Amino acid sequence: MALSKDVYKEFEDVVGAENISDDPAIKDAYRSPDLTVILPGSTEEVAAVIKLCNKHKIPYKAQSTGWMLFAPTYDFIFMDLRRMNRIIEINEKNMYAVVEPYVISAELMAELFKRGMICNVKGSGSTCTALAMSGHGHMGMTTSTGDRNDLATEWVTDEGEIVRLGTLGASDEWFCGDGPGPSLRGVYRGGGVITRQATKVYHWPGPSEYPLEGLSPRYTLSKKPSEMNMMVRYFSFPSIGKLIEAELKIGESEIAFELMGFCPSMVSSNITTSNEEDFETLEQFTREVQGPGFMVIIVGNFDEDFAYKKKVLAQIIKETDGESLKAVEDPDAEATLLFQCTRVCASIRETFRAGGMFSSMMVQGQRYDNHVRWLEEAAVLKRELIEKGLVIADDGQQFGWGEEGGHLGHTEIFCRYNPYDEKSSKAVQEWLAKVGKRALDGCFAVPSMGILPVDVIGKRASNYHIWFGKLKEAFDPNGVGENTGFSYVGADTSGVHTSIYQKPEKASPKK
Ligand SMILES: Cc1cc2nc3c(=O)[nH]c(=O)nc-3n(C[C@H](O)[C@H](O)[C@H](O)COP(=O)(O)OP(=O)(O)OC[C@H]3O[C@@H](n4cnc5c(N)ncnc54)[C@H](O)[C@@H]3O)c2cc1C
Repeated sequence: MALSKDVYKEFEDVVGAENISDDPAIKDAYRSPDLTVILPGSTEEVAAVIKLCNKHKIPYKAQSTGWMLFAPTYDFIFMDLRRMNRIIEINEKNMYAVVEPYVISAELMAELFKRGMICNVKGSGSTCTALAMSGHGHMGMTTSTGDRNDLATEWVTDEGEIVRLGTLGASDEWFCGDGPGPSLRGVYRGGGVITRQATKVYHWPGPSEYPLEGLSPRYTLSKKPSEMNMMVRYFSFPSIGKLIEAELKIGESEIAFELMGFCPSMVSSNITTSNEEDFETLEQFTREVQGPGFMVIIVGNFDEDFAYKKKVLAQIIKETDGESLKAVEDPDAEATLLFQCTRVCASIRETFRAGGMFSSMMVQGQRYDNHVRWLEEAAVLKRELIEKGLVIADDGQQFGWGEEGGHLGHTEIFCRYNPYDEKSSKAVQEWLAKVGKRALDGCFAVPSMGILPVDVIGKRASNYHIWFGKLKEAFDPNGVGENTGFSYVGADTSGVHTSIYQKPEKASPKK
């Protein structure tokens, strides 16, 4: 971005010369030639930068850990928050942790494990921000989802005002995100910058540190999971109906630490270390499973608790005709799945599986059992594309997980294709629109955005897009912040979020 020298100097005065750059090499690393990168180190600096953006009507965008790829093609101030990387507090008594945006989940979890606690970790993995907001993850059965976990929050509005929400504003404490007065927890999901936030933490009955052995990429544990009162199993079922029955029973009995609707290919990609090994293992799994399935992790607080949970699980599996995938019963495979799905470092091989670029459609919200039905339809439609050779036959690549004992859920299906093949890309786009629309029309759940127009989804989701417009007018009069409807970090459990970034309408950069 070509900021004038004077304007550049004003921003530089806020953060210091070493924390601002419009060097082409640096910009390239941020995936856009049209930005000026700025690295504020404190809430006050964030506020000062945003005030300058308002003064000069320059749009800005913030990044915590950058897991959501985007590359706007217009001039803007790009606020990389990596200098804000401190764990402010871990409050063991009141069960919360306070972090800045560039603290990643791995750092926070390492500290929490030592204290017998964990937090919600986004499924994208432990290198993603530990900020509470947004993020469905493997452990959702125990830790629920992002927007159930955010407590008091420090937020800088799109006008540069610092707001201390919840108990932070009232008593300088972090334990609650609401009150006194109307809650702004929904509003800050639509703009501004979160600079510090408290997240709930949960009891962790597992070890303070996993006894890891071996070398990358083949780590294992020196103890069997059962010696730590932990167990991982993959069960397949004769039908979707039986699978749902088992999931609901597991939810009701509250025995599962984690329930992950993996398909066999997700399991194989997690326990293998090369593509060849992965494809061979998948072939073996595909022969062995009798139908759709899920992975479940049981963790006992003590011996009797572990024995009780295993017994209940065995009974449920018997009643629902489930069958255990033998390969996962092997303590080595079990150990790998255990530490990858609880720390969480499982997503990388699942998502970046060999075979081409992927697009995915996800739905989230209440009634996880409903999502699974949607998934079944989406998979049938995807199979048609596979048969026509338009996408890669990857054994579905679909998954989901229950949250809060199955009251909430997140479900996703991938389509892997060749982005350079026009026919294939077009078919995938059409498939995405079709399955997204089916999620709405069939009242299964709210689909992710970016494919269907905002107002199509908005009409079915309390007209949120109209309310968002009104809030935007009030909180961002100069239009320097996001105008997406919701930023990704600001995702709401009902799925009303988007990853499509558009240029703010009012602000126009000063050259
Ligand atoms: C391979 C892959 C797998 C993924 N799997 C999952 C998954 O399983 N579950 C899941 O929930 N998500 C998943 N995601 C999405 C990921 O969780 C989100 O991208 C993540 O929450 C983004 O966090 P971030 O800090 O990296 O965001 P960034 O990329 O830094 O920013 C994302 C958006 O939030 C805004 N933003 C960033 N920081 C702030 C802030 N401090 N205040 C206000 N706005 C801010 C940005 O402007 C941008 O619009 C996946 C992504 C990838 C690439």
